[in-house]
Amino acid sequence: MDQKHSEYKLPDRKQALKRTRDAVESSYDLFEVSSGAAGLGRGKTYYLRTYGCQANVRDGETMAGMLEMMGFSSCENEEEADLLLFNTCAVRKAAEDRVLGEIGSLKTLKKRHPEKKIALCGCMAQEENIVDLLIQKYPQVDLVFGTHNIYRLPELLRRCMQDNERVIEVFSEEGRVVENMPVRRSHPAKGFVNIMYGCNKFCTYCIVPYTRGKERSRRQEDILKEIISLKEEGRKEAVLLGQNVNAYGKDLGMQDGFTDLLCACAETGIERIRFYTSHPRDYSISTIEAMRRYPNIMKSLHLPVQSGSDEILRRMARGYTAGSYMELYDAMKERIPEITFTTDLIVGFPGETDEQFQKTLDLVEHCRFDLAYTFIYSPRSGTPAASMPDDIPFEVKKQRLQILNDKIADSALANNREYLGRTVKVLCEGSSRKKADVYSGYSEENKLVNFTGPEGLENRIVDVKVTGVHSFSLDGEAL
Ligand code: SF4
Repeated sequence: MDQKHSEYKLPDRKQALKRTRDAVESSYDLFEVSSGAAGLGRGKTYYLRTYGCQANVRDGETMAGMLEMMGFSSCENEEEADLLLFNTCAVRKAAEDRVLGEIGSLKTLKKRHPEKKIALCGCMAQEENIVDLLIQKYPQVDLVFGTHNIYRLPELLRRCMQDNERVIEVFSEEGRVVENMPVRRSHPAKGFVNIMYGCNKFCTYCIVPYTRGKERSRRQEDILKEIISLKEEGRKEAVLLGQNVNAYGKDLGMQDGFTDLLCACAETGIERIRFYTSHPRDYSISTIEAMRRYPNIMKSLHLPVQSGSDEILRRMARGYTAGSYMELYDAMKERIPEITFTTDLIVGFPGETDEQFQKTLDLVEHCRFDLAYTFIYSPRSGTPAASMPDDIPFEVKKQRLQILNDKIADSALANNREYLGRTVKVLCEGSSRKKADVYSGYSEENKLVNFTGPEGLENRIVDVKVTGVHSFSLDGEAL
């Protein structure tokens, strides 16, 4: 195959850190498709697989929107597709290994069908060692692009498909916030809305600031326009997304930008608003007040704590203590008694002792989470924590994870028991994954509810009587 490499720009970690700490103003641009790329996908199919967080899901929706604008139609099968896109996550090594395994297994498909194009994008594409590996060991990959140049997908594809180039384009600098990008929403009932990109926190275990860059906020008017269009399309819920939503607007010089934005979003009249992810250090009392004041801001909060040990939190550079986290939790419970909490927790961070792990269990006892995303610490190359001595045997980490998961399941079940016999308002998202004749959706409190009812409840907010409870879901009947 006659292929050329295009420019190869790698992220420089020291520069990323420096740039992020410098004050920068976001700049904006409008998306457009060049005439050469416009009809490129006519009669062709694409298969898009997205891994990881909701920010990636939203990026996948943008890519799907661009591809369909170019004439591609989606398909569910790698064998059928003319273009295969892997939108990847770099947060844990296991997820990366899985993607590399899947891409590796496509070698034979590519041999049989050299005309198929295979692309890798997302956070893994922002990692220098991964791009090196792809260049050297994965010749079946035709296109690699990063998180900062998604808007260039049509042009990159044009070069890849028309000029038969092997295109590797990864920008180390974030550059502009690009507006007006097409979107193919993956959900009829709700819509993800990016409010900002990147993160300035540099928690010592986390690769996101390197792969997603510095914080850049979208303008409030652009966000509101997107929410109003969701409402006009009949969607009931807007999910505001950012790595640290509480920092929204700081790069635009706003003092309490997130609270202002939240209130403005609530005033659009959309029926439900949620937001992910909050940072305990940046959470303001005014945001709590906004949640209390507006009934369409859902009273559920994902507030990652990561550990209950002050020493581990210090080494993670989280910027708060277990005590200050619990104070925030208590303040919110006092002002909004019905509020529910979910969190993220890491076990086996380098040097975590039994006593420090016990502090995490104590915090979980206090906070009674409805759910927690729990992980064994996964070192990410280039992060400060990766060079800390990882001295805890894997068996111990596994045991801690099990103990923690059991404790969370117990507290979640105890929380859910209080719902037995009550009526909850559920946004019906369609059939449950397990049973086609059972609906599934989320209550205002963000509880997964599986329920029975008459036909035609999809995309509606339904009163459901709770008839059964589990740790992480409720059963019910539509009223
Ligand atoms: S705040 Fe979240 S995204 Fe940002 S560095 Fe910390 S863990 Fe990573």
